[in-house]
Amino acid sequence: MAFEGLAQRLQGTLQKIRGKGKIDEADVKEMMREVRFALIEADVNLKVVKEFVKTVSERAVGHDVMKSLTPGQQVVKIVKDELTNLMGGEQNPIQFARKSPTVIMMVGLQGAGKTTTTGKLASVLRKRHNKKPLLVAADVYRPAAIQQLETLGKQLTMPVFALGTDISPVEIVRQALAEAEKEHHDVVIIDTAGRLHVDEVLMQELKDIRDLSTPDEVFLVVDAMTGQDAVNVAKSFDDTVGITGVILTKLDGDTRGGAALSIRAVTDKPIKFVGMGEKMDALEPFHPERMASRILGMGDVMSLIEKAQENVDEEKSKELEEKFRTQSFTLDDFLDQLQQVKKMGPLDEILKMMPGANKIKGLENAKVDEGQMGRVEAVIQSMTTAERNTPEIINANRRKRIAKGSGTTIQDVNRLLKQFEDMKKMVKQMTGMQQKGKKKMKMP
Ligand code: GDP
Repeated sequence: MAFEGLAQRLQGTLQKIRGKGKIDEADVKEMMREVRFALIEADVNLKVVKEFVKTVSERAVGHDVMKSLTPGQQVVKIVKDELTNLMGGEQNPIQFARKSPTVIMMVGLQGAGKTTTTGKLASVLRKRHNKKPLLVAADVYRPAAIQQLETLGKQLTMPVFALGTDISPVEIVRQALAEAEKEHHDVVIIDTAGRLHVDEVLMQELKDIRDLSTPDEVFLVVDAMTGQDAVNVAKSFDDTVGITGVILTKLDGDTRGGAALSIRAVTDKPIKFVGMGEKMDALEPFHPERMASRILGMGDVMSLIEKAQENVDEEKSKELEEKFRTQSFTLDDFLDQLQQVKKMGPLDEILKMMPGANKIKGLENAKVDEGQMGRVEAVIQSMTTAERNTPEIINANRRKRIAKGSGTTIQDVNRLLKQFEDMKKMVKQMTGMQQKGKKKMKMP
């Protein structure tokens, strides 16, 4: 997971101070020494680390903290606030033009994820903002880049404007803008060329495109895995072309976090989105406060709820609730649930969004066994309808058949049936408790 090392260190340090009933300057100093170390190890820009440590120290030794009843918790809160500030404070939404179309220019080095992110962004704009984007292939140096964008366009059923490679990027953009007007596109996203390094010629080209299209947003796409390099790239693109925001990709990998924590402070440009995977739905708005909360092991309930809302079918949830209530829950429903949860993303990532998850022993290293989930799916799929509805009929012979059919073992089948039984018992107890609770409420 991203930020793993930093999260572990900071949480360990803060754990020591959290419960303290009394704190003095020496305690704060000791704590900040560890915080400083943790940030440096996470590859955070040195100047940023210094500034952060100074701000937190000053606030932490403040009169009101020291004299408060819960100084340890106050200090933890200060660290969280300042981490949030460091990453930009509030979430920073896309700026749409007052007059259509909104023009978004995507810039960045080769391999950062620019083309992929162009597709993802278009998808977000259509899904969450009800927009009708036009994608523009303006990287004329790599024919593969144009093809890549066209493939993404097909996949998303989204139009891509391309004129091949024998024409200047500026001319492509000029014609694309005319096309957007004609076809009533309210957003134009320009995928520009990338290079391996920042270079003069490229920068001039980007400036020309910028001057012609007067973009509402210039998003720099940077790879979070490159740490401080990402920060330097951001600085040079901002100094030359001028950027309005950053999209940090590959935050699903195990980046140490340095880029996410330094970019805002160094460039004063907000991180607007983060890439969380290769698929087209893996782009999320960046929420500094939620990220700080996750780094400090306080969970991220808001993101969890949003994920669930986006992926879980409401009709199905209602049906399921009814089935729980009437205890007519079957193995088919179990399978359904499993598949819905899987849509939310890798399970270990989801678990980590839960508050207090960091306190569960061993979870930090837990790799949820997705293979096990696959086996459960296979086992249920090898059952007949009758077996799924009334698992009681599954005798030894049937167990053998199911194990064979699903390529699993009899132990796998037994385990699943036992789990399902236990779950049913638990649901029965819970609904029993709810019923009692209801009766109680009605009593005068
Ligand atoms: P470009 O050269 O900047 O246009 O980069 P591409 O869009 O071709 O992406 C380079 C590679 O990074 C591709 O293999 C993408 O699938 C991958 N990639 C892009 N964004 C993400 C992300 O958020 N997470 C992961 N894991 N991979 C990503």
